Amino acid sequence: MSNTLIRLVAASAFATAAFMPMTISAQSFPQISEAELNAYPTYNGGDLELTVDASGTHFRLWSPGAEAVRLNLYATSRNGKPIQTVDMKKAEAGTWTTSFADKLYGKFYTFQVKVKGIWLAETPGAWAKAVGTNGQRAAIIDMAKTNPCGWEKDTYVTTAKQTDAIMYEMHHRDFSAHRNSGITNKGKFLALTEEGTVSANGQPTGIDHLKQLGITHIHILPSYDYNTVDETQLADRQYNWGYDPLNYNAPEGSYSTNPEDPYARIREMKQMIMALHRAGIGVVMDVVYNHTALGNESNFSLTAPGYYYRHRADGSYSDASGCGNETASDRKQVSDYIVESVKYWATEYHIDGFRFDLMAIHDTETMNRVAEAVRAINPNAVIYGEGWTAGDSPLPVERRALKENVSKMPGIAVFSDDIRDAVKGHYSRAEDCGFASGKPGQEETIKIGVVASTAHPQVDYSKGSNSKFAYASQPTQIMNYVSCHDDLCLTDKLRKSMPEATDSVRMRVARLAQTIVFTSQGTPFMFAGEEIFRDKKGVHNTFKSPDDVNAIDWNLKADNIEQFNYYCNLIALRKAHPAFRLGSAEEVAKNIVFDKVKVDNLVSYSIKNHAGGDEWEEIKVVFNGSDKPQTVNVPKGKWTIIAADGRLDKDGLGESKGGKIEAAPQAALILAR
Ligand code: CA
Repeated sequence: MSNTLIRLVAASAFATAAFMPMTISAQSFPQISEAELNAYPTYNGGDLELTVDASGTHFRLWSPGAEAVRLNLYATSRNGKPIQTVDMKKAEAGTWTTSFADKLYGKFYTFQVKVKGIWLAETPGAWAKAVGTNGQRAAIIDMAKTNPCGWEKDTYVTTAKQTDAIMYEMHHRDFSAHRNSGITNKGKFLALTEEGTVSANGQPTGIDHLKQLGITHIHILPSYDYNTVDETQLADRQYNWGYDPLNYNAPEGSYSTNPEDPYARIREMKQMIMALHRAGIGVVMDVVYNHTALGNESNFSLTAPGYYYRHRADGSYSDASGCGNETASDRKQVSDYIVESVKYWATEYHIDGFRFDLMAIHDTETMNRVAEAVRAINPNAVIYGEGWTAGDSPLPVERRALKENVSKMPGIAVFSDDIRDAVKGHYSRAEDCGFASGKPGQEETIKIGVVASTAHPQVDYSKGSNSKFAYASQPTQIMNYVSCHDDLCLTDKLRKSMPEATDSVRMRVARLAQTIVFTSQGTPFMFAGEEIFRDKKGVHNTFKSPDDVNAIDWNLKADNIEQFNYYCNLIALRKAHPAFRLGSAEEVAKNIVFDKVKVDNLVSYSIKNHAGGDEWEEIKVVFNGSDKPQTVNVPKGKWTIIAADGRLDKDGLGESKGGKIEAAPQAALILAR
């Protein structure tokens, strides 16, 4: 488990800023029994909340517990009184409706429901697809007008199987905000549409940098409308990761050039996606359906109080998210909501895949529905999540979408905290080293990582540092990584755990760490900027740290150009060789053969038999995590040296005749024939 708990608690504490909807006291919030909630009719008609068509503007709110529902129409996204308030009529399946004969484009609206005699605060609803400033009111817009020129020709970036993808996790501000980025639209969706940008010292940045690196997908941190950043005060350069959801189906306003204009955030996000697609890069969105930033004041609570959340026996919110509440995907209307929401992003925005935050708060059935629904739209969609929670949940363990339950979710991948902690050391104990930085005893867990947590006759799971059984049925169910936005980034981790080393040595260790990730079976995942040895000034939880901690200093690219070139070569190696990204556990078990090694910090194996149709008959992979050279025995023959002593080239660094070969310290040795 990562430090999600800490950052969510902190994020939650920030949710009370003055611009938020009026707070309701606990006494004035309706208490509805679990029996009542479970008896609610559900509605999944596809026309929830707002539809504009030739016959006019139609509203349908799902609010089964309501005694009365009002619709307020506004001329502006905030301030001012309603220009019209109408009573909605009770309709089928717990919904309330009203219609207007005109297309009300340009207007804003809120709903207001009365439950158990209490009128709740106004809400834009749970399904607002366009919103104004700070997401307080929903906007009625012509969605066709949000499409950038050429959008109808835009389509998904596809990889044949999930293990062919190479994920690059980034935050909009991290990536572009630094003064050295050379990017005009700093911290905005549009940053990723700018071509030809260079750092202050002349190296390509932005989308050109991504093309150079060769990743297949970016994974953007939450980009739906979140709560914390005040969209009226953008000059303050506020920062937040965005794990504090407000409106799930509209983009975040602070990433647009004008949060006041409901069209801008949608159009600009689409421009970003189209620019990335043109560059051959897919877009995976980080989605946080597991909790909302607000509890009683959330859009869920203000439309159907109690229904969307799990509760303890005393009626309080249960809190598996560590943020004060957790959603109830085991309820039909919530499960439908999650499924319909990801379908919406996949169709309206051409999103190529989804990363589920604290996925184990959701039930496995919902996650399987998600995978089925998204892949019906895009068969090659990438779907993965955090297979853990940040606290206990009323949802039974066997139903949780845990990594230990991933065999029940054939179309979903989970992050491997096994390989993460084995390679670099414990995620939260800063001083702890891992295999790559010299800690002995992690060899078997490295092997677990190499085979993507699938069953293998030579891997003894009882010796694993973390998981004790082969939880993945297929390598496509595993995401391999050594760092992400959570916890210390790789540079900071190596600085804290190797205090005596030089940065030059740490960069060598970083290359080894990523070589383990990128040559292992499963899908590799990296954190933006690691390829240029970016740091975050030693701060482990930067969810609201300022730009001077979080922004990538692009001048590091020229300073560390050899590091960058190594990453490029490593990615090129993986893309050129299907043996590193096999599609089935059977292929992994059959073609990967580990060498018997009795030395600490040394793992040696072969991928044999032209695995996956590879041009190479055999690939010998040796990881030496110690600070001393180690001698390994390689069968005699004509080998090409692919990686040695901290250098790597898929086309070869030289030749070897095999036999006793020295593996340099803190480096990977890769040979092929
Ligand atoms: Ca927002």
